[in-house]
Amino acid sequence: MLIDIKSMNTDELTKLVTDSGFPKFRASQIRDWLCKGVSDFDEMRNLPAEIREKLKTSCYISVANIEKKLVSRYDKTVKYLFSFNDGECVESVLMDYHHGKSICISTQVGCKMGCTFCATGQSGFSRNLTASEMLAQIESAQRDCGQRISNVVLMGMGEPLDNFDNVMRFLQLVGDEKGPGIGARHITLSTCGIVPKIDELARYRLQINLAVSLHAPNDEIRRRTMPVAKAYPMDELLRSCRDYFNSTGRRVTFEYALISGVNDSAGCARELGQKLKNMNCHVNLIPVNSVEGTGFSKSDSQRQQSFADILEGCGVTATVRRTLGSDIDASCGQLRRKHLEKGGK
Ligand code: SAH
Ligand code: SF4
Repeated sequence: MLIDIKSMNTDELTKLVTDSGFPKFRASQIRDWLCKGVSDFDEMRNLPAEIREKLKTSCYISVANIEKKLVSRYDKTVKYLFSFNDGECVESVLMDYHHGKSICISTQVGCKMGCTFCATGQSGFSRNLTASEMLAQIESAQRDCGQRISNVVLMGMGEPLDNFDNVMRFLQLVGDEKGPGIGARHITLSTCGIVPKIDELARYRLQINLAVSLHAPNDEIRRRTMPVAKAYPMDELLRSCRDYFNSTGRRVTFEYALISGVNDSAGCARELGQKLKNMNCHVNLIPVNSVEGTGFSKSDSQRQQSFADILEGCGVTATVRRTLGSDIDASCGQLRRKHLEKGGK
């Protein structure tokens, strides 16, 4: 099996080079080329042919090829369908904010968690992404838009904490100044709430932002749309979020997709407000994106605002999130689903 060279950290790369009998400094030359986003060992022009040949027989370079690209007519949001070396596809969304470019990347092909409102959850699971495939999404988008990407959110397809080791490796590599150079404070990881993994992440004391998909004020409602809630009750989840804040000092964000008639009543808002009022957190209210076949529709704007007002009344800060790229199915999973329906991988 070929080695995924772009997922290697500096120590591993150095070992690979020296074990093959080449001098150590070749490792940093290879790293420089990988950070530049080359896709072929022959592009590593300052390496002797002997090393390039050796690398070709033992390693491969992950790429994310643009399979499809949709640009929103309303804002500068771009949605990509990327394909990897084995032909599997994921989606990424590039957003344009006043503070710079932000990319939403995928961490798995599909997802095992099965949330009923989510297009990714409805298409099943294929495989985990490697760290290099997460990096490749950023590099390809950066090359395509010609601008530096300054923020990354792990909020595309997949559950990052269900692919823990590869995500941790990615977090280590993405900070490399020669590569994307994106520091922890500019990274947000979103999870559906796998409690033991949040606890494990907290122990690393990284400065990344944690977003938790809550989408309900209690277990009963939560279990209706999120199977993960059956394994980890909300009390435990909120305890874990408090601990995350205590370990890292980073305020946790709760994602709450407002679904008409499911979780958007004034009673739901009050119950949520009571549970979160003493926490150092922020609530992002998102009108749910209706996904074909789910039967869910978004709450009207009046209800969105009154939900936010009730939370604020309890002392919980909340914002109704602006939807970007609404004309290009910007919430992840929908483009790949169409691609699959047409017979793609
Ligand atoms: N698996 C992780 C991260 C990927 S999903 C998680 O669940 O947090 C990214 C975000 O999109 C999550 O908050 C998820 O709940 C939300 N989401 C999924 N489908 C959605 C939809 N149809 N409308 C609005 N938000 C949705
Ligand atoms: Fe997976 Fe997140 Fe979608 Fe749930 S919302 S199915 S955890 S990607």
